[in-house]
Amino acid sequence: MSTLEIRIEPAPERPPGPLPDELGFGRIFTGRMFTQRYTPERGWHDAVIGPYRPLTMDPAGLPFHCGQMVFEGTKAYLRPDGDANLFRVERNAERFNRSAQRLAMPPVDAAFHVEAIERMVALERAWVPTQPGSALYIRPVMIATEASLMVRASRSYLHYIVMSPVSPYFAGGFRPVSVLISDEHVRAALGGTGEAKTPANYAVSLYPTERAISRGYDQVLWLDANERRYVEEAGAMNVAFVYEGKHIRTPALSGSILHGITRDSILRLAPDLGYGTSEDRIEVAEVLRDVEGGSITEVFNMGTGAVLAPVGRLGFHGRDYLVNGGQPGPVAQRLYHALTAIQYGRVRDPYGWTRVVPLRETTAVG
Ligand SMILES: *Cc1c(COP(=O)(O)O)cnc(C)c1O
Repeated sequence: MSTLEIRIEPAPERPPGPLPDELGFGRIFTGRMFTQRYTPERGWHDAVIGPYRPLTMDPAGLPFHCGQMVFEGTKAYLRPDGDANLFRVERNAERFNRSAQRLAMPPVDAAFHVEAIERMVALERAWVPTQPGSALYIRPVMIATEASLMVRASRSYLHYIVMSPVSPYFAGGFRPVSVLISDEHVRAALGGTGEAKTPANYAVSLYPTERAISRGYDQVLWLDANERRYVEEAGAMNVAFVYEGKHIRTPALSGSILHGITRDSILRLAPDLGYGTSEDRIEVAEVLRDVEGGSITEVFNMGTGAVLAPVGRLGFHGRDYLVNGGQPGPVAQRLYHALTAIQYGRVRDPYGWTRVVPLRETTAVG
């Protein structure tokens, strides 16, 4: 499989000049996309980096009623030396394949997938934003392509990668988010697809999230589906609680929690900054008691998009619980700076998490 070659087709270059100041998140896309196709006879084939363009799909295609789709999210960060860093992208590729397996889709060659990302980033170097905290967001997707009204796995698939220059999530510094704890709706159940990055998990979150927003919150904090008692995730991010400004506690991966790479990195980094960490079952009643009593000094969310997002307010059964007076706390700030310093290559990476994509010299194409 790794003998695959990527064909490079002519594609429009970005017009010279700076990128807009306000990139937003996932609003602007680069001029190229990667695609390859799968059939049982040929395996993955026809790998191309060509112009970004709409997909042509059969309206009876399996994704539209069986939802056979998975995706990923990772970023390329501009280094001070002008090259780009990818962050734990191999792990991202492994998770893409685990998601695919759960949705009965064929795996991609992980090394080839990473190579496709590297080639894309190098070709689209003019789209890597330079503003502090900005990045080139990378969105790999796999989707069923066979036309059939049956309920079964597709025989053919499309794997593609698009990229979007994104503004820093918190452009003017941290703005704490508010979360409404839901014991009415759930995101994912044990044995379901909570560990897979598949659109179904996000589709079921939209209605409860819209309702939370109409009540003045930013996101929903999800509890376990079985007992509606243990904390799972917040929005589409993992969540952590800081005790007494020195211990970081996060829900253990329960089977319905997404295995976040940011979460994993924070757990690895925190002890080196002098914080204790633990992963266990965390009861929502205990969290509310500890926020109220003051032993939980900070709450924050973790994910590639924002990296870290402090939580300033928790709502539950008509009551609000302020965390740290609704202000971002020092632990979240410190972890954010330590992790982003590695991602952007501002400090040496002692963990082997980053992979440099040379952007300064002309890389051979074709
Ligand atoms: C992507 C995602 C995360 C965060 O994962 P990262 O690898 O840190 O970006 C957490 N929860 C959900 C539901 C997600 O989709």
